[in-house]
Amino acid sequence: MSDDALSRRTLAAQALGKIDAASRALVPPIHVSTTYIRDPDNAYRSGNVYGRPDNETAREAEAVIAALEAAELAYVFGSGMSASIALFLALPHGAHVVAPRVMYWALRNWLAAEAPLHGLSVDFVDAEDAAQIAPAIKPGLTQLVWLETPSNPLWGVSDIAAVAKLAQAAGARLAVDSTCATPIFTQPLALGADVVMHSATKYLNGHSDVVAGALAFAREDEFSVRVKKIRQMHGMILGPFEAFLLIRGMRTLDLRTRACAANAAELAARFAGHSEVAEALYPGLPQHRGHEVAKRQMRGGFGGMLSIRVRRGQAHAIQTAARIQLWKRATSLGGVESLIEHRASIEGAGSPCPTDLLRLSAGIEDVEDLWRDLDRALREV
Ligand SMILES: *Cc1c(COP(=O)(O)O)cnc(C)c1O
Repeated sequence: MSDDALSRRTLAAQALGKIDAASRALVPPIHVSTTYIRDPDNAYRSGNVYGRPDNETAREAEAVIAALEAAELAYVFGSGMSASIALFLALPHGAHVVAPRVMYWALRNWLAAEAPLHGLSVDFVDAEDAAQIAPAIKPGLTQLVWLETPSNPLWGVSDIAAVAKLAQAAGARLAVDSTCATPIFTQPLALGADVVMHSATKYLNGHSDVVAGALAFAREDEFSVRVKKIRQMHGMILGPFEAFLLIRGMRTLDLRTRACAANAAELAARFAGHSEVAEALYPGLPQHRGHEVAKRQMRGGFGGMLSIRVRRGQAHAIQTAARIQLWKRATSLGGVESLIEHRASIEGAGSPCPTDLLRLSAGIEDVEDLWRDLDRALREV
C-alpha cells in the first residue's frame, strides 16, 4: 500500500510507521547529539553534520507534518513566530508583502514594525474579500501574499484558491497560516498555496506543553532552500525533546481536532441564541460572513475556535471570564483543555479586536460541562 493511499489519520497515528532500525523500537528514540561522526574518507554520508541544522527527531516530526499537508517537504522551528519570520527574511530586500488587516496579532506587529527594518514593505488588506486583495498585489514587486484562515480573533475566512490564482498571476507566492484550520479541516497546498505555516504550539502538539512552529512547502525550490539556510544560520530549529513531544501529540491530531470542532460547533449554535450574547463568531454558523467560503474550503469541520461578543460590553466580558470555573482563563489555543480569553486585553492599543469579545478555544471536555460553566458565568451579574 503506497503512502498516498493512506488517510492522514492513519499516517499520523503511526507517525508514518517508522521503526528504529537498531533496537526495533516502535517509538523511535530521541536524538540528542549535537554532532555527528565524519566518515574516514572525509564525507558526511549520513547527511548529519551539526545540531544547529541537523536533527533526526526534528526530521521525523517534519516528515509527519509534510504527510499531513501533502507537502514535498516541511521544516520545524522553535515557534510559530520563528517559522513565519524565517519565511519573510527569505524574501529579497525591497520585496512587497500583502497581509491581512485581521490576523495573529504578534505577527501583524512584526510585519508592521520590524519587517520594514529588513527592507520589506507591507500592505494590510481585508483578506476576507478577494476583490480587495487583487488591487493590493503589485505584479513584479509583490513577492508574498500572507493569509490566515480562519483568522484570529473574528474567524474571518479567506478564499485560498481565489487568492492563490491572484498571487501566481502576479508572480508572487501564497503562504497560509493554517494553525486554526489544522491539516484535518483544510489543505492549503491542494488549494494552490505554496507554503503552509503552523504554530505547532497549538493543535499539532495539542497538549499545551510545547512551543513549536512549522513550514510545509508545496515544492523544494530556491525559496525553500533559502528558508532552510536562514533557519540554520539563525539557530531556529526545534529542539529534539520538543520534536519528540510534537510527534507524540500529532498521533491523536485527527481525534482531538474533530472533538474540539464538534464542541465548538455546538457551543456556537447555542451562543447564537443566548440572551447575553450579541454575536457568536464561528465559520460554521450560516450567518457568519465567511460561511460560504468555509463550506467550500474546509472539509469535515470548521475548527475548534470561536468568539462571542458579550451584549453588555467590555466590563461584563472581563467579569464573565473572571467568574468562569471549568474553562481556563489563559491565552493560546488548540489544547485538549478549553481556554477563554478577553482578547483585546492581550492585543493592546491599535488592535481591531472588539473590546466586548471573548475568544474561546474549545477543548475535548464534555460539551454540557463547558456550556453550563460559561452560561452560568454569563448570567451571573
Ligand atoms: C500562536 C499563533 C501564532 C504564533 O505561534 P507561536 O508558536 O506562539 O510562536 C501564529 N499564528 C496563529 C494563528 C497562532 O495562533
